[in-house]
Amino acid sequence: MCAIVGVYGAKNAAKIAYYALFAMQHRGQESTGISTADGDRIHLIKKRGLVTEVFDEPSFELLRGNCAIGHNRYSTAGADSVLDAQPVFARYKLGEISVAHNGNLVNKYEVRNRLIDNGAIFQTGMDTENIVHLIAKSQKDALVDRIKDMLTKIEGAYCLAIQSRSKMFVIRDRFGIRPLSLGRLKDGGWIIASETCAFDLVGAEFIRDVRPGEMLIFEEGQEPQSEQIFEPDFHPCAFEYIYFARPDSIIDGKNVYQARLQMGRMLAKESPAEVDLVLPVPDSGVAAARGYAEGLGVPFEMGIVRNHYVGRTFIEPTQEIRDLKVKLKLSPIRHLIEGKCIAIIDDSLVRGTTSKQIVKMLLEAGAKEVHMRIAAPEIKYPCRYGIDTPTMEELISSSHSVEEIAQMIGATSLGFLSVEGLVEALGSERTYSLVSFDGNYFAGGNANSFGCADDC
Ligand code: AMP
Repeated sequence: MCAIVGVYGAKNAAKIAYYALFAMQHRGQESTGISTADGDRIHLIKKRGLVTEVFDEPSFELLRGNCAIGHNRYSTAGADSVLDAQPVFARYKLGEISVAHNGNLVNKYEVRNRLIDNGAIFQTGMDTENIVHLIAKSQKDALVDRIKDMLTKIEGAYCLAIQSRSKMFVIRDRFGIRPLSLGRLKDGGWIIASETCAFDLVGAEFIRDVRPGEMLIFEEGQEPQSEQIFEPDFHPCAFEYIYFARPDSIIDGKNVYQARLQMGRMLAKESPAEVDLVLPVPDSGVAAARGYAEGLGVPFEMGIVRNHYVGRTFIEPTQEIRDLKVKLKLSPIRHLIEGKCIAIIDDSLVRGTTSKQIVKMLLEAGAKEVHMRIAAPEIKYPCRYGIDTPTMEELISSSHSVEEIAQMIGATSLGFLSVEGLVEALGSERTYSLVSFDGNYFAGGNANSFGCADDC
């Protein structure tokens, strides 16, 4: 997953990037970084930790310049290396360059091995380093042509912010898999960000989404120039709407909260349950649970309290810690639950860990029946385009039927939204990336190729 931001033509570019990254902290909590360009040099700070932990006032004295790019990283593998934080900075023939990447390149190893065969030295495990190498090795004269050259050699999902000492280049892959929007800053200058919630925080006006296959070039004293590099083949990621993005964001013209509400309504149609109460798994299931309750005409209650001081359950790699973390994170309001038939709604089911814990928790709190409903289809295939999903073996739905999973998690019943229901909820005017549900790897890669854990 990850978040990127780019700010151009603003006096306090680094501070704006900082706030934007703070608004997009949900997209990656492992490490963060900002690089700025002041015309002569690129300055960089990146570290493991949250945005508020990594930057302090003195950081902004170092991060001079009116152009800043930044990144929040989400991953599990290679987690101990600060080298794997972004932006990736390098000096090369034309000077200095810095790159921030959200997505996952499916031909990472082919490209990397070819570069290594030709003598390249890699310092990190990230596919983003391939991008820097490809730009550095290109024989073209101008940076813009080197970037275009590089783009012909990478495949998969990418939103890129690339910074030289005086310019900024922003690119969204031709499938538009990951979100990327363009905004205008109130006091002059431009901003691009993975999610529009970043614009709201810094008071930027949303202009438009970056188009699939488009490159935007930001230069001193000019409006951003747009160049359509590739023919678009739009497949925005459905999982951004299901789980990943913040509910207040608008991605490619669609508000995430509304989309989730609609998924919940559709789920109520497809998989109703006779219950007294509908509860969400907080916070990810809230909007869908509202829709589900509305669809059934049953009261909605926030019957589970979330402790906000625990990170998302996927961040810790081992199964033991994951189990404990669910309990640390969520606790039921017994008073609401005792003696009731409950429908509990979550946005997705991956390994089944969360659902199992929650069903147990609700039964222990005195629920008579617990009907688990998932506002997404069964996740049967690993995403290779920037969502960190585990291997096929770990995805419970790839090898078990709905009935089997219901038994495994101890639920009275279990229901998923169908793929058709999801498409209807999102609107059929465009083709979404549904790879986790249908295994259609339209942008390359396959279920058995490497995961995205160290890249996205
Ligand atoms: P699991 O417990 O493995 O079944 O995971 C399901 C829970 O993890 C749900 O509550 C989701 O909100 C959340 N989730 C789904 N996908 C991801 C992801 N890629 N990273 C982190 N959390 C996720």
